[in-house]
Formats: sequence, C-alpha cells, structure tokens
Amino acid sequence: MIKWERLKKLAKEISGMDVEIYASTDVADEIISMVGIKENGRVDILLNMNRVKSADMAKQAIAHEITHAMMMANTHGPEFKEQLIVVENEVRRRYEA
Ligand SMILES: [Zn+2]
Repeated sequence: MIKWERLKKLAKEISGMDVEIYASTDVADEIISMVGIKENGRVDILLNMNRVKSADMAKQAIAHEITHAMMMANTHGPEFKEQLIVVENEVRRRYEA
C-alpha cells in the first residue's frame, strides 16, 4: 500500500508549495513522472502508474519532481543532484514518521 495522502502532505511541507499529485496509465513508457508549475504557483506532479509500482518508487518520483519545482530548474546538474539527496532523505523521514 502506498500512503498517497501522506506523500501529498509531505510534498507540500518540504517544498512549501501547493502540490497536487495526479496518476495516469496514459503516459509514454519512458516517462516515470513529470512536473508542471501553473501560473497560480500550483505544482502538478503526474505519475505514470505503469512505472510507479511501489512506495519507494513513488517517494523517489515525488522527491525528484518537487526538487525540480523548488529549484525552478529542468536540468539534472550537480546542484540538482545535491539538492535531490536532501529532499529524498526528507521525504523518506517524513513518510515513515
Ligand atoms: Zn528530472
């Protein structure tokens, strides 16, 4: 079982942004998840449910996408990777809390 409400709550808390999580099976196979930021500042995360099968994958995907949103960056450079580690650890800690 994946604790979706908890994931949504922790994503909001960690990012300080208004996060919504969407799940779909109608997503290209190579995409695990994606993120978009609306003009009103809301962060929409889309998860490919053909790929996100476990709580661990959901945590990783959400950590990845909120890191993009927090950094306002689409790239995966060294700064992104550094920040991602911090966010992933925080996601894991809060998920189990
Ligand atoms: Zn990415």
